[in-house]
Amino acid sequence: MKTVLITGASRGIGKATALKFAKEGYNVIINYLFQEKDALALKDEIIKKYKVEVLVYKADVAIEEEVKKMITNIKNTFGKIDCLVNNAGIAIDNDYLDKSTEEFQKVLNVNLLGTFLVTKYASLIMDKGSIINISSNGAINDGYSEAIDYDASKAGIIALTHDFAKRLAPKIRVNAVAPGWINTDMNKDIEPNFQKMQENNILLNRFGEKEEVANVIYFLASEASSYINSTIIRVDGGEK
Ligand code: NAD
Repeated sequence: MKTVLITGASRGIGKATALKFAKEGYNVIINYLFQEKDALALKDEIIKKYKVEVLVYKADVAIEEEVKKMITNIKNTFGKIDCLVNNAGIAIDNDYLDKSTEEFQKVLNVNLLGTFLVTKYASLIMDKGSIINISSNGAINDGYSEAIDYDASKAGIIALTHDFAKRLAPKIRVNAVAPGWINTDMNKDIEPNFQKMQENNILLNRFGEKEEVANVIYFLASEASSYINSTIIRVDGGEK
């Protein structure tokens, strides 16, 4: 049986991804940092619906010692993993003139350093398989200036994707998805007018759903994508 580790999986895209992999028969490791109740509820939901094993593990992806301990724990429980989804991420949106060094570094630490650290240690317990990073379309096309630090961190994730793909080939494929606006808690405080404006820039005229991202993440883990490597797939409805 295959096993997947998903970081920041207690809600949003991570949760939808955990449900998708469980449905496809994977054992699931739900990493979380803040929403313990949600993580445990997700474990219950998965166990009730699917015949797979679930491990819930609290760790801050930006803290090397916590990541190391998490991977050791996973090794002791499952022996290895077949797939890693680097999903944990934060955004602190404000004008660049108001952005403090601490805020900028926090975003880089969680999004970019976190992706590096989890990949570094998880790769040691993967003999083959697939790693999927979560970038953002803001790192490719139309950035969002209030998220200048976030967009930079997500651009860095694209570089990590290519470099790790090179380093871990041919055993492990490394790809990334670059979502556009997705309906999750990350965007729950968006002004309706601002949302309308953004929707007008999307060819499909709407924000995406978390399952629409989870499906592409699963595709990149599956045999259906066996010759896709070092690639970034936009999941953003198409930009006008
Ligand atoms: P979300 O806020 O619901 O999910 C992010 C998760 O990461 C949360 O559960 C959070 O607690 C967790 N997390 C934060 N810091 C962590 C840390 N240090 N260690 C472990 N976990 C941590 O938002 P989401 O929209 O589901 O985002 C999932 C991923 O998709 C993120 O990487 C995000 O940047 C990316 N993304 C989202 C959108 C969007 O529009 N929602 C667009 C592009 C990319």
